[in-house]
Amino acid sequence: MNERFNAPLAEVDSFISDAINNEVRRQAEGLELIASENFVSEAVLEAMGSVFTNKYAEGYPKKRYYGGCEWTDVVEQAAIDRAKELFGAEHANVQPHSGAQANMSVYLAAISYGDQILGMNLSHGGHLTHGHPMNFSGISYKVADYGVSRETEQIDYDELQRIAEESRPKLIVCGASAYPRTINFERIGEIARSVGARMFADIAHIAGPIAAGLHPSPMPHADYVTTTTHKTLRGPRGGLILCREEHAAEVNRKLFPGVQGGPLVHIIAAKAVAFGEALRDDFKEYQRNVLKNAKALAAELAGQGLRIVSGGTDNHLMLVDVFMEGKGITGKEAEKVLEAAHITVNKNTIPFDTNKPFVTSGIRIGTPALTTRGMGEEEMRTIGRLIAEILHAPQSEDVRRKVQHEVSELAARFPLYPKRLKQRAPEQEAMGAD
Ligand SMILES: *Cc1c(COP(=O)(O)O)cnc(C)c1O
Repeated sequence: MNERFNAPLAEVDSFISDAINNEVRRQAEGLELIASENFVSEAVLEAMGSVFTNKYAEGYPKKRYYGGCEWTDVVEQAAIDRAKELFGAEHANVQPHSGAQANMSVYLAAISYGDQILGMNLSHGGHLTHGHPMNFSGISYKVADYGVSRETEQIDYDELQRIAEESRPKLIVCGASAYPRTINFERIGEIARSVGARMFADIAHIAGPIAAGLHPSPMPHADYVTTTTHKTLRGPRGGLILCREEHAAEVNRKLFPGVQGGPLVHIIAAKAVAFGEALRDDFKEYQRNVLKNAKALAAELAGQGLRIVSGGTDNHLMLVDVFMEGKGITGKEAEKVLEAAHITVNKNTIPFDTNKPFVTSGIRIGTPALTTRGMGEEEMRTIGRLIAEILHAPQSEDVRRKVQHEVSELAARFPLYPKRLKQRAPEQEAMGAD
């Protein structure tokens, strides 16, 4: 065996090693407010970096197409059992590589090519995989869509009922990527049954609050539930499918061999670790703080004269209308000037947006990542003020420098991955002096 095989990354490939160290620093020194991101624990990282990455394990526990799956079965079965306990589900498939692939498997299990579906409009908060024309869902199925009402900017369930009666979908897809309000899964289940459709709830964003009992669960109402594991749930990047026993065999068959080949066993091991963490009481406490922090941040931003879409938030995220009918700046500009001060958010369409999806009138802000660092309501008020200072003076270099300084100080008080934070090399120090 080549002796480099056992050498550390920094010796084998300093180019990639440096990039990783710089990313650790970026995450630790800035303020991460992207609503779909989080910071996983060292335990989750350790499982992800394990030798399970070497293993082929097509099939499911005790029914594999490969030998040597003794320990793979242990971690996959643990992930399955913990996911079922966490969400009160009869069946769990922990193999999806991502949320999109979990969703693809559900469509293949639930309906046929060319069938009618009904999903939430992407520009009102839905997801690409809920029927966007560029996505497999929009390519493979006939799509009708529902959205929010102009007045309340919240889902109009009466209108959803009307569109369901008119379009007669086989499957109603609900759940969202940019919707700050509680979703009434019970009502959507009633609507689905009233038109003979199956119900599919994609809880990618709100899985954490649901697991903690802080948002109503779709489990009693939906035929299929999917989630990502890396957003509020705070696990490795990946997907998860939950359903009743009656749909289990079909869902499993569609995920493998229908959509995927071999599972990512190292990621499944890390999912098991993350689900184990989510079953603990301190995870409930964490989720409560995520929601409290979102309310505090939204209130501060509103107090600073920014318009919060729908007037507030019930969950971990908020949409801020930074354009304000031309009086402000675009979402694209807002994202850029905030990033220059080391505050990371993403531009996002707001309902009935007059700007294009690459420009947008809004930004989406979420509290899961900073809450993981231990920040609380006081820090949220500070951050709300800093965001407003930048957005009210987007051209000012003085304001940017002052805010960036405060951001660095705040981030330093809540250390992230201290063991991974390497001393900066002298020449990099000189380059990045500001
Ligand atoms: C993030 C998200 C997904 C997709 O997850 P990926 O892992 O990025 O494929 C699907 N649905 C919703 C509602 C999401 O927010």
